[in-house]
Amino acid sequence: MIKNENNNSKSVIENWQKVNTQVAMAGEQANRPEADVTLLAVSKTKPAEMVATLAEQGQCHFGENYLQEAIEKINSLKANTDCEDIVWHYIGSIQRNKTRDIAENFDWVQTVERDIIAKRLNNQRPEALPPLNVLIQVNIDNEDSKSGCLSAELPELISTIKGYKRLQLRGLMIIPAKSDTNAFARTKQLFEDVKGAHPELSKWDTLSMGMSGDMVEAIAEGSTMVRVGTAIFGERS
Ligand SMILES: *Cc1c(COP(=O)(O)O)cnc(C)c1O
Repeated sequence: MIKNENNNSKSVIENWQKVNTQVAMAGEQANRPEADVTLLAVSKTKPAEMVATLAEQGQCHFGENYLQEAIEKINSLKANTDCEDIVWHYIGSIQRNKTRDIAENFDWVQTVERDIIAKRLNNQRPEALPPLNVLIQVNIDNEDSKSGCLSAELPELISTIKGYKRLQLRGLMIIPAKSDTNAFARTKQLFEDVKGAHPELSKWDTLSMGMSGDMVEAIAEGSTMVRVGTAIFGERS
C-alpha cells in the first residue's frame, strides 16, 4: 500500500515537472517570457493528498469543478502549512443557489457568464476577504450546449460587473469546440478589445485558455493561464 502511494505521488510530481517544462517551452517558442503563463492544476476528482504533494513542490494555483468536493478538500488542507499559499479557482458551472459557497471559499471564479450570478457573488463575498477575482466565460463558438456568454453580450456584462466592488474583473476564459481552429486567436482579440475600451480595468490581465490537449497552441496564441488536469494527475475515472 505504502509503496503504491509513493509511486503515485512520484508520478504526479514527474508529470507536473514535465508540464511545467512544456509550458515554459511553449512560452519561449512564442517569444513570451515564462512568468507570463500561470499553470492551474485542475484537481477535480483527485484526493487532497495529491494537491498537498504538489503544493509542497511549489504549485500554487488549483482548480475545482464540483463544489461539495472542493469545499471538503479546501477545508481538509487548511491545517497543512504547505498549503497555506494555495490559490483556489472555481471552474465549474455555477447554479444560482451555489454562489454563496463560491464567494466564501474561493479566490477566483472563472465561469461567470451572466449578471445575476455576478451580482450574487458580489453581495455574498465576505468583507473579511479581498475582492473575488472573476473571469468571464465566453461561449466563443456560439454552441447551444455550451456555457458562457456570447461575444456580443460581453461589452454589457463587462460594464455591469466592473461596478461591483467585491469583484475584481481579471479577464476571459474559454473552452473551445475541438473543431474550432482559431478560437484562441479570436478570444485574444476580444481580450485586447476589452482592454482597449476599458483602460480603467487595472487588473485586466488573464486569458484562461488551453487544457491538457491544447495548451501549447493556446500559449502560442496568447493564453496567460492554462488549466491542466489529466496531464498532471492522470485520467479521471
Ligand atoms: C476538467 C477541466 C479542465 C482540465 O482538463 P484536462 O483535459 O484534464 O486537462 C480544464 N478546464 C475546465 C473548465 C475543466 O472542467
